[in-house]
Amino acid sequence: MTTERRHLLAVGDLTRADAERILDTASALERSLDREMKKLPTLRGRLVLNLFYESSTRTLSSFELAAKRLSADTMVLRASGSSVDKGESLRDTALTLAAYDPDVIVIRHPHIGASQLVAAATHAHVINAGDGKHQHPTQALLDLHTIRDALGRLDGVTVAIVGDVLHSRVARSLVEALLLVGAEPLLIAPPTLLPRNVEALGAKVSHSIDPLADVDVVYVLRMQAERMEASYVPSLREYTALYGVTPDRVRPGQVVMHPGPMNRGVEIDPRVADSGASLVTTQVRSGLVVRMAVLYDLLTAPGLHVAPVPVMEVA
Ligand code: ASP
Repeated sequence: MTTERRHLLAVGDLTRADAERILDTASALERSLDREMKKLPTLRGRLVLNLFYESSTRTLSSFELAAKRLSADTMVLRASGSSVDKGESLRDTALTLAAYDPDVIVIRHPHIGASQLVAAATHAHVINAGDGKHQHPTQALLDLHTIRDALGRLDGVTVAIVGDVLHSRVARSLVEALLLVGAEPLLIAPPTLLPRNVEALGAKVSHSIDPLADVDVVYVLRMQAERMEASYVPSLREYTALYGVTPDRVRPGQVVMHPGPMNRGVEIDPRVADSGASLVTTQVRSGLVVRMAVLYDLLTAPGLHVAPVPVMEVA
């Protein structure tokens, strides 16, 4: 038997209306966080399972807290220390955990397409919390929420995404999300840190940092050393000299974002990271309310157009 389940595997799963509805829900939920009693009964009795095969601080903690704030039960399985260490495949791990009947599986994995595999193998709603350098849709949504809150709009906002685009799922997801809501992304990076078919992403591209002065939002990417098999820049010092976001490169009125974790002194100067222009901690707070909104939307909005994936019947 084949049934249909709604998932959030990639930004491409979302229409503009979906994205805007999730952001509106997040804004409403944000107001609930100002109350003394922060817990809402909305997802009582539901189970949210976090399956993390790559390290995470912000994404895992915010999904965990988001589910708890909505009164769902939560479980965390990290690859290290689990039977994954003994060679269990992702499909077998997913099938094992599916025996607990989770309503949602949040998965982070180093391989592209891991979330599709889990969506096909289980009956849960699946959220991709990062698959290799491919997609990280909830990061893109939380970044949209942060920008909308700070600037009051998304349409026509110009956003420079600076740094290691080549290895960044954040960049790929964010470019798509910005285009979806009418904002204007500009990628700034040396040619070696851009994907070969970068034009296909639909953003403007600059190899020079000079156009940084013209944008509303400066979005700094981490140098993804763990995904680099070769040397992509002559030296980190040279990279920092040419592309580091330093106080002299940020003009008054601009806001600065970074998905974290930051390499202070490499892609971002600590004086910028800690300045009044920095929205880095606001992004973390947005992560909580946006992930609450995504859980709420997947589990309670019947008409939601988020990619249906055929579910294989599992014994
Ligand atoms: N935390 C983000 C991610 O998991 C960004 C990064 O690691 O640089 O993709």
